[in-house]
Amino acid sequence: MARYIDSSCRLCRREGLKLFIKGDRCYSEKCAFERRGYAPGDHGQSHKKQHSDYGVQLREKQKLKRMYGLLEKQLRGYFEKADQRKGITGTNLLVFLERRLDNMIFRMGFANSRVEARQLITHNHFLINGKPVNIPSYLLKAGDEICVKEGSRKITRILGAMETVARRGVPHWLELDKENFKASIKMLPVREDLTMPVQEQLIVELFSK
Ligand code: SF4
Repeated sequence: MARYIDSSCRLCRREGLKLFIKGDRCYSEKCAFERRGYAPGDHGQSHKKQHSDYGVQLREKQKLKRMYGLLEKQLRGYFEKADQRKGITGTNLLVFLERRLDNMIFRMGFANSRVEARQLITHNHFLINGKPVNIPSYLLKAGDEICVKEGSRKITRILGAMETVARRGVPHWLELDKENFKASIKMLPVREDLTMPVQEQLIVELFSK
């Protein structure tokens, strides 16, 4: 499968905000965006681009795609599903992305980033409702319970993430039981719960053209 292999920090600098792709480093003073919060490239500091309407929509879509570590085709697939659902398409789209297993593992604090969560999932470290699942795009629903497999409870990356989760906090719609390496989804989030700076309506407009 195709994947992005250039520097993750360049993506944050390009989008003009922290996308929290690199886990622990993103919360430290080593964060490249904290040190150089301007666009990458020779003219990143001096040239502030004026985007057309299309350009603004495009940047918003790129931001969301990069935040969740998705490919273009995957994001479009979620948009199409979101569009077929009742309700506001933009909100449906964000909720679909939140329901992904890699996102939930990150939000629950079993990984320090979605990238790290994806690796841990494919290495088979988690059970969903008692059954092993190793598909990062697996969609979870309210009431589902995720647990770290017994044999995986000493993995340094998982333990490290669980130690630092307090710094970013676990959303109120999730419940973490640290002692038992378990977490559950109390309810799916509503738009107000999703505080990342994304204007999803612009993405819907772009995909609807
Ligand atoms: Fe982005 Fe994290 Fe790199 Fe900072 S350290 S620029 S938040 S990926």
